[in-house]
Amino acid sequence: QTLEDKVERRTRKLSETNQELEDANHRLERMYRARQELMSNISHELGTPMTSIQGYIKGMLDGVVDRGDPTYLKLVYNKTLLLQKITDDLRELAKLESGGITYTFEERNMRDYVETIYFIYKEEIERKGISFTWEDHLPPERNGVVSIDPIRMEQVLSNLLLNARKFTPAGGTVTLVVQENESRDSIIIAVRDDGPGIEEEELPNVFKRFFRGGANVVKTEEGVGLGLAISAEIVRSHGGEVGVESRKGEGSLFYFLLPVSGIKSINHTEE
Ligand code: ADP
Repeated sequence: QTLEDKVERRTRKLSETNQELEDANHRLERMYRARQELMSNISHELGTPMTSIQGYIKGMLDGVVDRGDPTYLKLVYNKTLLLQKITDDLRELAKLESGGITYTFEERNMRDYVETIYFIYKEEIERKGISFTWEDHLPPERNGVVSIDPIRMEQVLSNLLLNARKFTPAGGTVTLVVQENESRDSIIIAVRDDGPGIEEEELPNVFKRFFRGGANVVKTEEGVGLGLAISAEIVRSHGGEVGVESRKGEGSLFYFLLPVSGIKSINHTEE
């Protein structure tokens, strides 16, 4: 080996190390920016209800609004409930993301599980005048057994079903569906509605923290924008993935896939 060879090898090695350092630096910068953005989102989300609470109380103290009128106290109380929901959801999401949540996985037949969930939410959804059904598209010979944490999974389905209920007007239709994917290695669970649908440019954001769609937001029902982020995190911990298909004015389909096997390795039962 000539000296030139050695020098060349050394130079190549140095430039590789340099590239790795640069990549690590970029990753750190991205994490830092994400953290800054999250902090600023959180302060904004907590600041808004706080400002209205202050406004109402100041109005009462100054005698601008009638202190004997419970309407204002109710408004204040509702804002404190919203603050509570934001902090609870944030704590939940932080725990889920750091792996500080204990999952208890059980083998469950998804056909039975989805039917049970259907009956739990039936009354609440139909009460709004929405027609609610469930569809089993699993081939009869397949039992659709996957390993899930039933309580956490209900949290996901509850988020999807109550979103469908919230955004779909009375007279609309919501459907809970269980089926297989084409390669038969995953079970798909989906919630379909014929509500307002989602703008194409909003679609990549719906699972992000604090995202609330502009046109869709039902003004009387304040959302925190953390429900779908929490759901996505729970599904990922089951080795699955979430997705959405929707078109403005044509309803939405929120779904997730759960692998039929091979997810036991993701068992966070430390703690
Ligand atoms: P929240 O419901 O508290 O606003 P989510 O994280 O559950 O927060 O949902 C984020 C956003 O995704 C909603 O604000 C809405 O814009 C959109 N979205 C969710 N579900 C539906 C649905 N079924 N139909 C239309 N838009 C939806």
